[in-house]
Amino acid sequence: MKKSLALLALVLFWTFVVTTGAALAQPFTLPALPYAGDALEPYIDKLTMEIHHGLHHQGYVNNLNAQVKTFPELAGMSLESMMAKISTFNPAVRNNGGGHYNHDFFWKIMAPAGTGGSPSAELSAAINQTFGSLDELKKRFNQAGATRFGSGWAWLIVTADKKLAVTSTANQDNPLMDVTEVKGTPILAVDVWEHAYYLSYQNRRPAYLDQWWQVVNWNEVNRRFAEALR
Ligand code: MN
Repeated sequence: MKKSLALLALVLFWTFVVTTGAALAQPFTLPALPYAGDALEPYIDKLTMEIHHGLHHQGYVNNLNAQVKTFPELAGMSLESMMAKISTFNPAVRNNGGGHYNHDFFWKIMAPAGTGGSPSAELSAAINQTFGSLDELKKRFNQAGATRFGSGWAWLIVTADKKLAVTSTANQDNPLMDVTEVKGTPILAVDVWEHAYYLSYQNRRPAYLDQWWQVVNWNEVNRRFAEALR
């Protein structure tokens, strides 16, 4: 009886050590895609999605987890809090923390063509007020993405004074970072790294940007817009 209790205690102890240890070692995990890898075809091909999510995004997650040894406080931190004080960490946290946040965001604001809905009445009114029309927003957003030299992102954000703005960032920076010039709450973003489009579009980034609007998840953009206004 004593022996079995001791054994049970040992098992419980080891379960605790193993699960806690795993949680501490890997606080950040790759989120599953909210749709199948081929769901965004023909606008984004399956192989691109698989490499982008399974290798690139996984790489940012792994590299961010490796930084927990240097900055143990990262383990309990939300990505949003991390972005707000990104200047207090090293470039590896900036690149990989940004990479994790940006890609997690990107997968969610896309949906299979025909399923993403359209801009809400509130968002449409804000778009018309700021840009004149949805077409004009698309034009400026695509221009921000097309003219971002090298790698980066184009964004639609809600600024501190609750206005819409189009902006772009280099590398894996984003508008939540304290180091970013134009700050705000992102509600829409497109990845313009070559890894996001090269297999289907090669060097034709503007063609990718034109086609990409077919897979925007407006329902999610509407939700994020409403949340940013609160
Ligand atoms: Mn990417």
